[in-house]
Amino acid sequence: MNNIPFNKPYLTGKEAHYMYQAVYTGKLSGNGLFTKKCQQFFEDKYGFKKAIMTTSGTDALEMAAILCDVKPGDEVIVPSYTFVSTALAFVRQGARIIFADSCENNPNIDAEKIEALITPKTKVIVPVHYAGVACDMDRIMEIASKHHILVVEDAAQAIDSYYKGRPLGSIGHLGCFSFHETKNITAGGEGGLLTVNDERFIHRAEIIWEKGTNRAEFFRGMVNKYGWVDTGSSFLPSEINSAFLYAQIDSLEMIQARRKAISIKYKEGLKELAMRGCFSLADLPEYATNNGHMFYVVCRSLNERTALLDFLKGQGVGAVFHYLSLHMSEYYKEHHQGPIPDLPNCDRFADCLVRLPMYFELKDEEVELIIDQIKHFYSL
Ligand SMILES: *Cc1c(COP(=O)(O)O)cnc(C)c1O
Repeated sequence: MNNIPFNKPYLTGKEAHYMYQAVYTGKLSGNGLFTKKCQQFFEDKYGFKKAIMTTSGTDALEMAAILCDVKPGDEVIVPSYTFVSTALAFVRQGARIIFADSCENNPNIDAEKIEALITPKTKVIVPVHYAGVACDMDRIMEIASKHHILVVEDAAQAIDSYYKGRPLGSIGHLGCFSFHETKNITAGGEGGLLTVNDERFIHRAEIIWEKGTNRAEFFRGMVNKYGWVDTGSSFLPSEINSAFLYAQIDSLEMIQARRKAISIKYKEGLKELAMRGCFSLADLPEYATNNGHMFYVVCRSLNERTALLDFLKGQGVGAVFHYLSLHMSEYYKEHHQGPIPDLPNCDRFADCLVRLPMYFELKDEEVELIIDQIKHFYSL
């Protein structure tokens, strides 16, 4: 019996070495050497004006919601096909979430449907780059600027991915990445990054990060004492987590190359079934890149998907479905006033999308085996 899990975090071998270094220097709390090294790397490589390490992608989103000054009654436009945190970070600030539908041929927010959702209360749009595939950012930024709305990119899955050659997370006013163990690179299980592209937010971002104090400025010698100046929380990760991430960053190119190779292999192996109409493969708009975060297919129906998942499970292959539509969630139904929106594309991805195993150490033979199993399923 095979045993191919859906995900397996990869260790480059240097993690323990850097973590030991962090311990040995005696500086374990946040904003130390490894935090700075990671932040510098991201700023240099992707051109973010400011990169701030956080304890999770969720925390990066929470920081973004505070920075956008979202207040009770403000409206925030979010795709319904996403992880809870994309909406939750803004709900905690009292925002009313306006859910938008996905595109017809990919789960990203349909930029053409955003404008109809804008009201005088709209404060933020949160495009989510699902599977690391870029949303139509030019269109979204154009709408946002026309209506004086801020854009926070949920780039949790989108490290090292691009829109028309521009790194994701560098286009919106703010961007949020995750280094959870299920993402391409991890900070030892949990971690994240806030990117600040609009300079107006840099100063306040550092304060919110450091529990509402100006401690970061104090460390740089810019003020001679530090105190409580704003709201905030403890959003900064321990040096241990940043040290872990730094080891992964060292091998980023290799990790990305392998993940992309796996996704190309899947695509090659499954394109014939897709041509026969058994399912559809991920659509990669010409403006987007594939960062090897995820490989998925979209089945024709919920029943067929359930059967495929059961079949693969029986073969020891860890294929899984993904999000349930947030606009159909218990929490939203209970707390929302007014009618539940009708978002058919989102519901279809919730019912029909299947993610196949994807991780650095997945072997070519295993990918071939999974492809063969899927072919077998459809020839039954
Ligand atoms: C993983 C993920 C998050 C949350 O990141 P955490 O680091 O787990 O808090 C948010 N949004 C999306 C789209 C994600 O995939």
